[in-house]
Amino acid sequence: MKPEALKPGDTIGILGAGQLGRMMALAAAQFGLKTHIFGPDGGEPAFQVCAAGTVAAYEDEKALAQFADAVDVVTYEFENVPAATAAFLAARRPVRPGPFALQTTQDRLVEKDFLNGAGAPTAPYAAVSDEASALEAASRLGLPAILKTRRFGYDGKGQILLRAGEDAAQAFRALGGAACILEGFVPFTKEISVVGARGLDGSFVAYDVCENEHEHHILSLTRVPARIGAQTAAAALALTRKIADALDYVGVIAVEMFLVEEGGERLVVNEIAPRVHNSGHWTLGGAQVSQFEQHVRAIAGWPLGGPRRLGRIEMRNLIGDQCEAWPAILAEPEARLTLYGKAEARKGRKMGHVTRIFPENE
Ligand code: AMP
Repeated sequence: MKPEALKPGDTIGILGAGQLGRMMALAAAQFGLKTHIFGPDGGEPAFQVCAAGTVAAYEDEKALAQFADAVDVVTYEFENVPAATAAFLAARRPVRPGPFALQTTQDRLVEKDFLNGAGAPTAPYAAVSDEASALEAASRLGLPAILKTRRFGYDGKGQILLRAGEDAAQAFRALGGAACILEGFVPFTKEISVVGARGLDGSFVAYDVCENEHEHHILSLTRVPARIGAQTAAAALALTRKIADALDYVGVIAVEMFLVEEGGERLVVNEIAPRVHNSGHWTLGGAQVSQFEQHVRAIAGWPLGGPRRLGRIEMRNLIGDQCEAWPAILAEPEARLTLYGKAEARKGRKMGHVTRIFPENE
């Protein structure tokens, strides 16, 4: 064990109080680790399950300083932690994954440049900073293509699909004139992801490749294993390790990829999430060690756990009023239900998930 490793009884500080922070806090508690949640909205789900909480803005330096004093390591559940917040905390306590992973994944242009530098294939792309560069990028890459804001995009927000003949300058205006990238359209047949973890000592483990389906740009179903060739699956795991190594990463990382089947299977990296990921929720009950426990082990400087799958997996998100099916789900022997403790089942809101674990060949 490295000298900077945590001991049971120590405290993990988590930025963000949503369901990811909540599931991390529950995993930490299993080892006698305490969690201190920091977030701007006291009604969020992680506050229900932590030893201590701070409700304050991410820019509130007085609150951040007190938070840093109260914790042994800092982690986060979302990639849009302001750079100044991460730097302020990193000067006082270890922040894992480190600020380099945050900077790289917060900006789609920086992320694509990093990926290409690390030898990971991406869609062709071009920076767009004004109407002229939007038109130039569209003529260079060709349409269809997708215009995306460089920052703060999630679940399909901040992006516009440009079909052949459509006006890139108008799409740029529709996104509010924010700095963007234009990405060539990838003719994918499947969306997959790899959830892996890298320890403080550089060790790496990954779960089997996940196959993901979205509805209205929100993940609805994850199947594991993904229905892809064994060589492609091995290549996806190897790419994830290469990316984690190049980021000198500590913690759980998820890499979202497209599978193109035209002319043989080929992988294209879409984006990196520097955190636990929705497509890894099945590991809670569906693998030897969950992604949440794995993240806690990694940032604590502890050995990583086994990623072996315990069956064939289907994980469905419970979005909005779908969570009302909870009594029927509880009655299914193969179903494992997780609810996030959110009071209001608003449309499009992730309220929980259900993982069904079947015998491997069923
Ligand atoms: P993102 O926010 O980058 O994850 O994009 C949201 C969704 O848009 C993805 O899950 C894909 O279904 C689709 N998408 C994003 N980028 C591309 C691309 N370059 N080519 C084709 N589809 C894309």
